Amino acid sequence: SRRIGRNTCHFYSTDLQALLLERHHLRNQLHQAMDRREFWLAYQPIIQLNSLQAAGMECLLRWRKPQLGNPGPDQFIPLAEESGLIHPLGNWVLQQAMDEMHELLQQQTGLRLAINLSPRQFWDQQLGNRLLQQLETLQLLPTQLELEITEGTALQDPDTAIRLLNELKRAGISLAMDDFGTGYSSLAYLQDLPVNRVKLDRHFVQGIGQDQRQELIITSLVRLAKDLGKEVVAEGVETDEQLAFLQAIGCPLAQGYFFARPMPGTALQEWYQDKNK
Ligand code: C2E
Ligand code: CA
Ligand code: CA
Ligand code: CA
Repeated sequence: SRRIGRNTCHFYSTDLQALLLERHHLRNQLHQAMDRREFWLAYQPIIQLNSLQAAGMECLLRWRKPQLGNPGPDQFIPLAEESGLIHPLGNWVLQQAMDEMHELLQQQTGLRLAINLSPRQFWDQQLGNRLLQQLETLQLLPTQLELEITEGTALQDPDTAIRLLNELKRAGISLAMDDFGTGYSSLAYLQDLPVNRVKLDRHFVQGIGQDQRQELIITSLVRLAKDLGKEVVAEGVETDEQLAFLQAIGCPLAQGYFFARPMPGTALQEWYQDKNK
């Protein structure tokens, strides 16, 4: 995007206007999207690196809106978060994902369904109880549901975050810290967070074979996490070189295009059956 300098006020204001108009438009469209059933869910397998078997899948929200170029969740989730739409939308994601994966999860009780939670969803005090009810109705184990929150969410109010995470954990729900290493949290903070897994941002994985410091960070983090009783999930694995490195340092879990891209629920089930033939 264009740099904003002292002499570019004119550009600045038109850019800003365009941006605001675009956001306004996007927001209106977003509000109609639920009624119009334009949302759908993609799933990406999460792989166990020792066996190369699936450990589960991450659910990723998609918006079918070709007129707007099918905006990605990075573009529209923040708007939904601002407007409060995230509550109905987030609940829809949870219910829909559990419905779509229900059969597979019941057959394979070791598999976990990971769902991303935005800050406002996580801070909703009713979330835990609602989830436990849904799990019971569907006869799924709480351990089969994994909630992913970002370190940014937790850092908004660390003490309350730890309390809420502990409640969810005590109920048996699995927890993952997403995008680890992209924010400002210290490694020491990791020890206080009652999460089962830590998801290492793909920016680190991209450094494998390119940047020795990044490799060192990954190696240390995998070891530290293990010592703290947590598992690392390496995100964004795209090459066999990255896979080999992660296996060599004993990273337990990974996901990325190298294994599979996010896909519709039916395709995920086929992928899983194929793999286990
Ligand atoms: P995330 O949770 O960090 O998800 C991982 C992102 O990396 C996904 O982008 C995924 O499609 C992408 N990805 C996976 N493997 C690879 C790879 O090998 N290479 C590359 N370059 N990318 C890979 P996506 O689906 O666009 O989602 C972006 C973000 O939107 C997610 O980041 C998550 O923070 C958020 N998001 C997605 N679905 C939901 C949702 O249902 N609720 C909430 N609150 N946020 C969501
Ligand atoms: Ca995630
Ligand atoms: Ca992530
Ligand atoms: Ca992300």
